[in-house]
Amino acid sequence: MYVSVLLLSVAFACAARQAPLLRLRDGRRMPALALGTWLGHAYTSQLQPASDEVERAVSWALQAGYRHVDTAARYQVEGQLGRALAAAALPREQLFVTTKLWNDAHAQDAVAPALRASLTRLGLDYVDLYLMHWPVGQFANLTYDYTDYLETWRGMAAAQRQGLARSIGVSNFNQDMMERIREHGLPTPAVLQVEINLNLQQPSLLSYCRAHNITVMGYTPFGSLFPNKAAPHAPPPRVDDPALVAMATKYNKTVPQVVLRYLVELGVAPIPKSVTKTRIEQNIDVFDFSLSESDKGLLRGYDRGYRTIPQLKWLDHPYYPFEKNHTIGKTR
Ligand code: NDP
Repeated sequence: MYVSVLLLSVAFACAARQAPLLRLRDGRRMPALALGTWLGHAYTSQLQPASDEVERAVSWALQAGYRHVDTAARYQVEGQLGRALAAAALPREQLFVTTKLWNDAHAQDAVAPALRASLTRLGLDYVDLYLMHWPVGQFANLTYDYTDYLETWRGMAAAQRQGLARSIGVSNFNQDMMERIREHGLPTPAVLQVEINLNLQQPSLLSYCRAHNITVMGYTPFGSLFPNKAAPHAPPPRVDDPALVAMATKYNKTVPQVVLRYLVELGVAPIPKSVTKTRIEQNIDVFDFSLSESDKGLLRGYDRGYRTIPQLKWLDHPYYPFEKNHTIGKTR
């Protein structure tokens, strides 16, 4: 027992790499890259995923130097994450844990109880960042809840005042929705989490966020890079694209590392998900090189405004956040 604790401590002490810290508009600091924990399973039951995939992934990630993990009540893996965090026994202030409010708890007074339930599963007293997962409300029976997301946001601010979350933010909000929060004199979100990858670079949303000091976390950072995840009609590039392979070789990095580095240079904190130890280690090893202007220009050219997660099933909800004329998006 003593030996394994000692070995674990040595592993953490030798943590190869750590992401630099970004300063949020509320003054708190957030590691500039997080491990994603969405397993992509179908949410057809209320059962937790049976495996310990995420628990193992988080343990490997902490050993590799990650200090930020992104999860959500909806992913049904908060318990696994909590077990990995407890086993690592790192000082709480060294960790940054992000979780999210699901759509079925949008009533203002439902927010703090939902967050408390997440905290219980995580085994934590507070989360570092609590995000409203979507502006769209939906009851447990999947009928729409038309609660105004401003009400939900008031509930998020109250939960923050109660000390349950250090920072609060939103996910899958568009610019007008964030502007509406501001116009109503409510706290500006510290963070916006949205899809950002080579095919969906969202330059005008990023520039709005920069102007208002809202830090952007980029989900699905690999987009359609890997053939097994790409829809048949998804635009290029794939991971074996000759121009990307040549670029990665030049920097002595892999194509996924070049892609993550590009997001970092856009000022976005990427959230690569992996449950594979070598990939987890690879994905955080992106802070010791930078891309040339011409390489960034080439990568910029892959932007097609193509969304891998348009959530078209919520298209007719009044708070559906994305463009409504999806010609090439796929349903997910
Ligand atoms: P990603 O873009 O992170 O892609 C994950 C896939 O890439 C997995 O199949 C993984 O395989 C594979 N992969 C990871 N690293 C490598 C590598 N170096 N080489 C080859 N393959 C690799 O997709 P996600 O959609 O999961 O997004 C990331 C995270 O963002 C989520 O897990 C979640 O935390 C968050 N998210 C938030 C959303 C929101 O609404 N706010 C929506 C979607 C995601 P394997 O695991 O088998 O190694």
